[in-house]
Amino acid sequence: MECDNPSRKEWTMHTIVVGGGLVGLTTAAALQHIGHTVTVLEQAPEIRAVGAGIGLWDNALRELDELGIGTRVRALGQGIETWFFDPAGHPLRAPGRDASDHSFLLVPRPELNALLADHVGRDRITVGAKVTGYTEDAGGVVVRLAEGDPLRADLLVGADGVHSRIRAGLLPGSEAQVHQGHYAWRAIVPAAGRPEGTVLTVGPGRTRGGYARVAADRTMWMVNQFDAGPLTGGKRDRALQRAHRLADAGWHEDLLRMIADTPEDAILENRIMRVPALPHWTSDRVALIGDAAHGLSPHIAAGGTLGIEDVGVLRAALSASPDPAAALPAYERARIPRFDRIREFSESVENTADAAEFAETYAAFSHWMLTTAPQ
Ligand SMILES: Cc1cc2nc3c(=O)[nH]c(=O)nc-3n(C[C@H](O)[C@H](O)[C@H](O)COP(=O)(O)OP(=O)(O)OC[C@H]3O[C@@H](n4cnc5c(N)ncnc54)[C@H](O)[C@@H]3O)c2cc1C
Repeated sequence: MECDNPSRKEWTMHTIVVGGGLVGLTTAAALQHIGHTVTVLEQAPEIRAVGAGIGLWDNALRELDELGIGTRVRALGQGIETWFFDPAGHPLRAPGRDASDHSFLLVPRPELNALLADHVGRDRITVGAKVTGYTEDAGGVVVRLAEGDPLRADLLVGADGVHSRIRAGLLPGSEAQVHQGHYAWRAIVPAAGRPEGTVLTVGPGRTRGGYARVAADRTMWMVNQFDAGPLTGGKRDRALQRAHRLADAGWHEDLLRMIADTPEDAILENRIMRVPALPHWTSDRVALIGDAAHGLSPHIAAGGTLGIEDVGVLRAALSASPDPAAALPAYERARIPRFDRIREFSESVENTADAAEFAETYAAFSHWMLTTAPQ
């Protein structure tokens, strides 16, 4: 603990957050909210978001509201109400589900991360700071950097993504695993002349994809492929080859055109990695959060949302019990069983046979996620 002014005996918990991505920045904002002095260490030379748009569900937006930034985040994005389509273009929704099970906010990632970084305070974020490991003792943690002096803190939060160094220290042998054959392609293109609305099509050959308006002037397209087989050609050709499976009888010409018009270097191609289920997420003074704790396959489109949920639970635990050794077990106890269930949903959504089954299985997941989310 730091004592700013010993005569006033005001103690501040100093927390280091490793990783300045969506979840690390939200964690920093949340812990500042409860009085921690926070330092964010980010290995990249600047805060930048890899990715196109991210869908944030109500459970994430509630936490952003709690931190006082929900309104500004909503102003960045577009409210989306999803319909699923079969490859012939028939719209589908699961019977018995209402609009809230299909509604989220789609936000451009770079703007979201910039807003979060400004809210945390750029002076609290050190970029170009690659963390190589840490040691923990009864009084705190010492974080080692590739360059520069080690840093000491009371609490360390590893928000450093699927290849987390903090997870490697806490749980040796827990490396992220390739989700064999699973790839995602996506890009943002100018919206002028593109269709309005959001279309997600579930096609044959385990191909899924479509597009969504991510801002008034930008549209995001995405193609998700399980069992991709050998990849040939450039990124655009790889995405186009799969997207053709979604385009029976002229349906989805718009998607094909969007992909064909996208410059090669604007296309993101992700080979999907997953973090194995972990036996624990914390020690007395170290906690994993976000993808570092539970990197999931993106086909349920909720990893970031659930990472923000983690933040709310960690904030509440540390608020109720400022001693990390007492608070972190409560955080871990709340989160691990939830992710056991989410992995089951993820598998069932992956293995749906057709668009109708996908619509039902996905809505079952989103309904469960929203109705069981921590308040
Ligand atoms: C194709 C795709 C689509 C998706 N769509 C959605 C969606 O619609 N909705 C949704 O909720 N989720 C979605 N997700 C999941 C979501 O993107 C992730 O769950 C989320 O971005 C994880 O955030 P994070 O901050 O935990 O990790 P990351 O965003 O990976 O951030 C980790 C940060 O840590 C830094 N870092 C790593 N190692 C070190 C180190 N040693 N030292 C210092 N810094 C380090 C990295 O540079 C990075 O900035 C999608 C994912 C993919 C791949």
